[in-house]
Amino acid sequence: MSKDELTVVDLLIEMISHNTVNEHTSGVHFPEQGMLESLERISQSWGLKTARLPVAAYPKDQSYNLLITYEVSKSAPWLVFESHADTVSIDGMTVDPLKCLIKDGLIYGRGACDTKGSGAGILTALREYAKDASRPNNIAVIFVTDEEISKAGANAFVQRQLKDLGWEPVAVIVGEPTSSKPVVAHNGVIRWKIRTQGVAAHSSNPSNGKSAISAMAKLVLAFEKEYCSKLTLTHSLTGKAVCSVNTISGGTAVNIIPNFCEIEIDRRTLPGEDSAQVLKDIQAVLDSIAKSDPSIVIETLPPFVDYQLDPKVNQKLSAQISEILIGMGLSGEQSGAGYGTDASTYSVAGIPAVVLGPGSVDQAHTKNEWLDIAELEKSVEMYLQIMKFGF
Ligand SMILES: [Zn+2]
Repeated sequence: MSKDELTVVDLLIEMISHNTVNEHTSGVHFPEQGMLESLERISQSWGLKTARLPVAAYPKDQSYNLLITYEVSKSAPWLVFESHADTVSIDGMTVDPLKCLIKDGLIYGRGACDTKGSGAGILTALREYAKDASRPNNIAVIFVTDEEISKAGANAFVQRQLKDLGWEPVAVIVGEPTSSKPVVAHNGVIRWKIRTQGVAAHSSNPSNGKSAISAMAKLVLAFEKEYCSKLTLTHSLTGKAVCSVNTISGGTAVNIIPNFCEIEIDRRTLPGEDSAQVLKDIQAVLDSIAKSDPSIVIETLPPFVDYQLDPKVNQKLSAQISEILIGMGLSGEQSGAGYGTDASTYSVAGIPAVVLGPGSVDQAHTKNEWLDIAELEKSVEMYLQIMKFGF
């Protein structure tokens, strides 16, 4: 690296300086744009090829994933490194979220750990790869939009953009804080809303109405007893299948018998579980509760389904990544996680994917989010060794 080149720390500071709070949280459309334009300029100045890949199916929406590539030859395998460009909210942070305080070897700011640190490490590694004598793979780095809420960027990449590019990756490394150890399995999630219907009436005469809140109270207790508490399935890497009711709202005014009430349920699914079957099983429990009590009238809204990272799909890749890390003196220990990442989007499409990046998930989404600079610097070498591996 020449003296006047950006360091990985400089690059991370630049990335954090752009506010990229997820659009569903911030209300700002395509908040990643400023950072992606900056990464595009930097990559081009390093001689790397860039492309803007539209995320939305309709042209009026200008949001895009930024693709940065180094192509060795038409016949070389493609290896993809993914990093999401958005972050969670900056509200309530106790450090300046965008100005990057550096203290005692740590760099503070929103996204330092989740997951701009991974992104900075990957992109710096690609610059070094382009200069290296050993280049067995074509490398694509993709900065995707909107991971934290809807996964729109990763879904567009897998379902449309990859087909247009005309090549299929042999493997995807998803940069997320995993303490630089490969996460080879994680749970999926199903989230959905259920409403109970009632009949509105003046509260001076409740018998003229039917309370949707009373019906929901009965439904929640029965559902927790008949379904949530009976889940026993476990996975050796990702833990137990769990289900919980996590929000409730209903009624319109204190003097009206409520005609509706709504809850949101979150069910974590294990690798190997069939999400469609899980939904059917849950609906059967809900239907039987409603059948046993005619005062409960249920409406189920369409679910949000995010799939699992199944270790059966990435077995070979996981072993190769562990081998590379052990060769560098790192642990290489494979683990699973209860949370989700974009890796499942690739896995469910049959593309082997592993999650790997500097920083601990314990610092992700926190009010004083930070990343250890030594681990960040080490990640450049870690990603570079993967880029140089003969897959
Ligand atoms: Zn993340």
